[in-house]
Amino acid sequence: MRVGIIGAGTMGLTIALRLARAGHDITVIEAGAQPGGLATWFDYEGFIWDKYYHVFLTQDENLIGLFRDVGIEDKIRWNETRTGFLWKGRHLSMSNNWEFATFPALSLIQKARLALGIFYVQTINDATPLESVKASAWLRKIFGRRVYDVMWEPLLESKYGVLKDEMPATIMWATIRRYFQTRSKGGGKEQMGFLAGGMRTMYQALLAEIEKSGGKVRFGCAVETVDNGADDSVHVVTSDETLQFDRVVSTLPTDVMRRIAPDITEILPKSTGRPHFLGIVMLSLVLRRPLNPYYVTNLIQKGFPFTGIIGVSCLTEAEELGGNHLAMLPRYDVPDSDWFARSDEEIAEMFLEALRPFYPDLDENVQRWFVCREKLVQAIWIDAPPETSEPPISDDGRVWSVNAELAGRDTLNNNAIIGVANRVASDLITSIEG
Ligand SMILES: Cc1cc2nc3c(=O)[nH]c(=O)nc-3n(C[C@H](O)[C@H](O)[C@H](O)COP(=O)(O)OP(=O)(O)OC[C@H]3O[C@@H](n4cnc5c(N)ncnc54)[C@H](O)[C@@H]3O)c2cc1C
Repeated sequence: MRVGIIGAGTMGLTIALRLARAGHDITVIEAGAQPGGLATWFDYEGFIWDKYYHVFLTQDENLIGLFRDVGIEDKIRWNETRTGFLWKGRHLSMSNNWEFATFPALSLIQKARLALGIFYVQTINDATPLESVKASAWLRKIFGRRVYDVMWEPLLESKYGVLKDEMPATIMWATIRRYFQTRSKGGGKEQMGFLAGGMRTMYQALLAEIEKSGGKVRFGCAVETVDNGADDSVHVVTSDETLQFDRVVSTLPTDVMRRIAPDITEILPKSTGRPHFLGIVMLSLVLRRPLNPYYVTNLIQKGFPFTGIIGVSCLTEAEELGGNHLAMLPRYDVPDSDWFARSDEEIAEMFLEALRPFYPDLDENVQRWFVCREKLVQAIWIDAPPETSEPPISDDGRVWSVNAELAGRDTLNNNAIIGVANRVASDLITSIEG
């Protein structure tokens, strides 16, 4: 059967691999010049690495399973990482049990409450009752007012900006579980993974495996419309040509799909509601030396234009980055925020100005900088996510809309995406063959 897949990100390529291996005639249609979508790579003029920061955790079984499946298990690297906090102008570390015990931003009682709260959150297996609860109220109740004010409120604000007070508790439940499970597996120490060569290693291996099974991937083809053909096929129109398929899987956000496929979306279930989206504006700094020893520096003091500092080279080995160091300063914001209209120079200047007081040698340390931005990064279900995690499918079963929105309550990560992709691919194969 001819299947067209729109988007060569993790979702599209994983579904393509499963369908191509099941013997279907697969064509992936990608607007960009290379695969990977949000997790693609970038030329930092001297070395190539992930465009945005990407790690995986020991419990990411779907992702590690995919590495195995495409023969790149030997490229997995695990390193111990440290987490820092910027508080009252000071760098604080909270990367092991001793540093936790001596962390000065909280009293002993508050630390005990923080530890007990995190333990309690790990014991919650069903988050459904939390869907109608706001994260701020839930965190205050579990951790107490002071721990909320010092730790969680600045973290919520830095990560979710203007949506901070709207965030459902489920997202913080998923975040706390995801990151603290990493620690419990590492005996109280943090351990994170990356691929030798970055995420590019996975996308190149996926492409090779898809092609080995007869699948094709077309780059530089933005899909403009999707239509029902008179001949029982679905027509996918790009700027250059019209392609015909028996089935089409879109991995674009559902609202984008609704726009480009107005006839088809009339029969897509509307009951799923609409998520809000957060985008990202990010400054990447190619450095001579790391800014600090932390993979993540959380900002628990207010007033920064960015939402955290990611010390990429505190995780990767220096030779991966041509002997350079790399730090990323993300700002998450709603897609209609002014930040998306600012020039690269303006963003770099504002971010660097905020960083200078903490790193007096900054200007000498920075070799090059780059600004990257995306408007539709994280789907956030402020009201409850759809009751079903089944993808919207057209009435005739020919067009499927499959994207990160189906990961519902999960944090945005490749492991969750691959979980959805594996499930949907198997349902699609059953529906075609059954
Ligand atoms: C800053 C940041 C940090 C992250 N950190 C991590 C991390 O540490 N660990 C982790 O596991 N995950 C992380 N993620 C999440 C991860 O990148 C995503 O979950 C994953 O890449 C989503 O894949 P996707 O295929 O669903 O979507 P996308 O990657 O968005 O893929 C969609 C594809 O569709 C293409 N497309 C769009 N419109 C059209 C069109 N009209 N026609 C044809 N093609 C089109 C796009 O170009 C893109 O390639 C991070 C994401 C960001 C942004």
